[in-house]
Amino acid sequence: MSADCIFCKIVDGSIPAKRIYEDDDVIAFHDINPSARVHFLIVPKLHIESLASCEAHDQALLGKMLLLAPKLAKEQGLAGFKTLINTGKDGGQLVFHIHVHVLGGGNVPLTV
Ligand code: AMP
Ligand code: ZN
Repeated sequence: MSADCIFCKIVDGSIPAKRIYEDDDVIAFHDINPSARVHFLIVPKLHIESLASCEAHDQALLGKMLLLAPKLAKEQGLAGFKTLINTGKDGGQLVFHIHVHVLGGGNVPLTV
């Protein structure tokens, strides 16, 4: 848990979010400012800053997050989808708690 992190606050429930999935390691919730008809984020409960700060011991967690994307996309009614991970300021990352964007349902942008 990082005190000033908005996604840690969503994980601990102190900030509300439209959750679509939760288990011991991961939560998923709709993006507050969707860039497509369906736009949700897959977020580890552990505070990891970005893909660039992941290490070998994060491999299983990263795999779990990616494997959740098709499962949750299907549940959201998507036949296809885009996944996106922004990494670092120069990579367009705004929230420094790693997350996978999943977008679909028409008008899917190249970037978010
Ligand atoms: P990124 O640029 O990859 O760091 O994306 C951060 C994403 O988090 C943006 O798409 C925001 O709209 C989204 N976001 C920020 N605050 C919230 C929140 N409270 N609930 C849901 N999504 C959020
Ligand atoms: Zn965090």
